[in-house]
Amino acid sequence: MDEDCDYLFKLVLIGDSAVGKSNLLSRFALNEFRLDSKPTIGVEFAYRNVVIADKRIKAQIWDTAGQERYRAITSSYYRGALGTLLIYDVTRRGTFENVGRWLEEVRSHGDSDMVVVLVGNKSDLEHAREVQMKEGQNFAEREGLHFIETSALQKTNVEDAFMTMITQIHNLTT
Ligand code: GDP
Ligand code: MG
Repeated sequence: MDEDCDYLFKLVLIGDSAVGKSNLLSRFALNEFRLDSKPTIGVEFAYRNVVIADKRIKAQIWDTAGQERYRAITSSYYRGALGTLLIYDVTRRGTFENVGRWLEEVRSHGDSDMVVVLVGNKSDLEHAREVQMKEGQNFAEREGLHFIETSALQKTNVEDAFMTMITQIHNLTT
């Protein structure tokens, strides 16, 4: 274990291609946003240190590098992961319809007590919205997930999405 932290949490990002996974990560870890999408040049993971209840937590957050096709993500991606952001795009209904499949995959590959936060991203594109907030909320409630809408572009709730996941893990593991 690193000497500069008390806990290391492995976290993973999942969801269909182009929902904004890489931008949510770069916003949280680097405070950067990219207008273009470069799926093949995706980083493998990024770190950010946070402090919760006097404990220094190093969040190691894994991003897919374009393997979003169903079942193309291998179990090593999920191995040891304590939490996941399951992301869809509020402007593309199909990405919301696939959330159930992603959840199945998380539940079959991941630990049974993995913390899952359902994230509806691109909330800034209100004029193009195809999925209502209530639909995301209802799904999350039925499945026992946390839920939040974000905009990686406008920085809305990005910090909250990651911190909800990290705080919940902290509460479960310490
Ligand atoms: P990934 O394939 O899931 O990693 O998605 P990316 O992060 O590469 O984003 C896909 C595209 O959506 C890119 O053109 C981004 O600029 C755009 N994008 C990502 N997040 C947002 C957002 O919150 N709002 C808007 N308007 N566009 C976004
Ligand atoms: Mg990406």
